Amino acid sequence: MRELEQSSEFIGFAPPLIEEVEVAAVGAALRSGWLSTGPRVKEFEEKFSETVGATAALALNSCTAGLHLALKAHGVGPGDEVITSTMTFCATANVIEHTGARTVLADVVPGTLLIDPLDVARKLTPKTKAIIPVHYAGQACEMASLEDLATSESIDLIEDAAHCLPTLDGTQMVGSKSHFTAFSFYATKNITTGEGGMLTGAKDLVDRARVLSLHGMSRDAWKRFQKGGSWKYDVAEPGYKYNMTDIQAALGLAQLSKLESMYLKRKQLAGLYKAAFCDSDVVRPLAERPNATHSWHLFVVELNLEALTISRDEMLAELSQKNIGASVHYIPVHMLSYYAQKYGYRPNHFPFAFQAFERMISLPLSPAHKETEIEKVIETLQFLVKKFRK
Ligand SMILES: *Cc1c(COP(=O)(O)O)cnc(C)c1O
Repeated sequence: MRELEQSSEFIGFAPPLIEEVEVAAVGAALRSGWLSTGPRVKEFEEKFSETVGATAALALNSCTAGLHLALKAHGVGPGDEVITSTMTFCATANVIEHTGARTVLADVVPGTLLIDPLDVARKLTPKTKAIIPVHYAGQACEMASLEDLATSESIDLIEDAAHCLPTLDGTQMVGSKSHFTAFSFYATKNITTGEGGMLTGAKDLVDRARVLSLHGMSRDAWKRFQKGGSWKYDVAEPGYKYNMTDIQAALGLAQLSKLESMYLKRKQLAGLYKAAFCDSDVVRPLAERPNATHSWHLFVVELNLEALTISRDEMLAELSQKNIGASVHYIPVHMLSYYAQKYGYRPNHFPFAFQAFERMISLPLSPAHKETEIEKVIETLQFLVKKFRK
């Protein structure tokens, strides 16, 4: 067997694409004299709303904060149940626990790993207060069935769109609905502010979340320090400290201006992976929903373990040794010890998520990657598949 010429440099999993525009924008924010929530945050909220077609948007210090505020704004608390996907980052479930409500998990549809609306329907009880669908990897869940369910049962929908910029469900942009949708600008996400998030939705909902996002103070508190601003405020309900800074918003505005080109680059690089593995009996890319536009946040493949002599973990170790930074998204929530112990879950209680978890690898994907780097990842994975084939 021919030896592989491995990458001499480490190919990172998801390096951010930071260029001179971002550096200049952050420099200008620092020199402006206004560091916390101010005019740049307002502009970022407006531009973001335009981009996704939202009526209103609230910039925050994380997507986790956005999901938490959305639950609080709907009054979710002890005695309530909230349904979400077990195939998500722990933050989606943790915020449900923070409110005192019970986390009810649903399994995923094999192939896409999107929350299964039929399992959601099975998990409904009179206590169900909200559903948090997770648009896994960057494609939208089947929102029509979830919306029908939510409407008929008077349940609030809160979309976890941490992976979804830009994503279309049919002709509708994720983030354009009247219910809450939360986006993430964490360092690895499709646009980044280092840490940050955005909550979109109808104006009255977003206004309620805005008050809660800054201590529960009654008016736009940052205006207190502007010329003509008043020192007076009231607190009707103790809120949180979840606001975004102007430094982050400056970075976000610069990133947002590159959204189209960064999306096209992701799509092109994902196309290289798809072309390489579409006929493979060992490396299987996730299925794509018809009529949905994928943001290509993650490129996830499932290994056909029956055809290999090594496990997924061993494959990841082999990739790492060959200078490739692959990852796993996600350890299903029901397998994390807090949730397993509290709710008595075993791995096979969610068979589709569990089966996918044991097989999945997220391959490096970022607009900062060169085509040659993605080609090296493909060559390396193909080499390893050949080497460890049964
Ligand atoms: C990243 C992520 C979050 C949390 O985003 P933060 O901005 O880091 O709080 C939530 N859900 C999913 C699916 C994510 O990938």
